Amino acid sequence: MKNFDYYKPKTLAELLKLKDENSAVFAGGTDLLVDIRSGKKNIEKVIDIKGIKEFYGIKKVKGGITIGACETFNSIAKSQFIRKLEALRCASSVMGCYEIRNRATIGGNISNSSPGCETGVVLVVFEAKVNIISKRGKRTVPIEKFFKGVNKTDLKPNEIVQSIFIPEIKNSLSFYRRYSRTEGMDLACCNGAFLIINPKNPLKREIRMSFGTVTPIPFRDREIERDLSRKKLTQDDIDKAYLKICERIAPREGSVRASPEEKRLAIKNFMNEVLGPPHFISPLKRGRKRGGKR
Ligand SMILES: Cc1cc2nc3c(=O)[nH]c(=O)nc-3n(C[C@H](O)[C@H](O)[C@H](O)COP(=O)(O)OP(=O)(O)OC[C@H]3O[C@@H](n4cnc5c(N)ncnc54)[C@H](O)[C@@H]3O)c2cc1C
Repeated sequence: MKNFDYYKPKTLAELLKLKDENSAVFAGGTDLLVDIRSGKKNIEKVIDIKGIKEFYGIKKVKGGITIGACETFNSIAKSQFIRKLEALRCASSVMGCYEIRNRATIGGNISNSSPGCETGVVLVVFEAKVNIISKRGKRTVPIEKFFKGVNKTDLKPNEIVQSIFIPEIKNSLSFYRRYSRTEGMDLACCNGAFLIINPKNPLKREIRMSFGTVTPIPFRDREIERDLSRKKLTQDDIDKAYLKICERIAPREGSVRASPEEKRLAIKNFMNEVLGPPHFISPLKRGRKRGGKR
């Protein structure tokens, strides 16, 4: 592995001074160290942000919940505030393996912007916002604008994700689905998140859904969502929506994890399972513990 300088600032002010275009932020290191070791990334200066308190905390705030960028998947999965956000709780408890979930952070997950990253589809259906900090100040970006492509985000070279805000959406249910090659540890071949607002009232019901690994960034299509919302859902509606999704996604040929056909089939299964009869049954009510890996 190529040598690099390692810094561990103790304060936010120290970090903002250190962060420049030749440096990379180091949170859990579960993507960064792999990329440095493989030569994919050539970095001279690595800045460990785990000692800075401003990157922690899962808190209820006005209008929603904020999650510090350095919060790990295990701490998110266990948080009392995440219990109601079933899709996020579920995604956080099935990613990687226990040891990885103990190190890997939510800030690192979105900043790495892998097409099937665990939290991408979930944060997209919740319409989360990313709070970014740099020596120039703070700014907030909607998650859909944060993702720009495979390993590409809206972050400028000296910017750092400080936290993620998830707005409170009353009277809603959320679901996470993941298809992977093994029962054990593997990245998702395809994943999907659903948010159903006003689930029991067909005329007021709003359906949001997002799928990972089928386009460079999480796929969400508001027109297709509108076709499924504010009506009594039939199997025909679900089938038509699925066909439209198939026309609009572009799963990569030659993926080592799943063929485009397998990914399309995974989406069909996710949709039938969540949207089809008996309609939007919480995984907890169905008696599933984690609703996750298959
Ligand atoms: C064995 C193994 C299994 C895995 N399984 C999964 C899986 O099932 N699902 C999945 O989604 N991922 C998986 N991953 C990938 C990885 O664990 C996740 O993407 C993880 O969330 C990355 O977080 P991290 O804290 O380790 O990030 P790091 O490796 O520290 O950083 C990743 C990238 O983000 C940047 N970065 C980190 N924090 C910030 C910040 N706050 N602001 C700005 N930039 C930042 C870094 O500079 C780097 O470019 C796996 C990795 C391994 C090694």
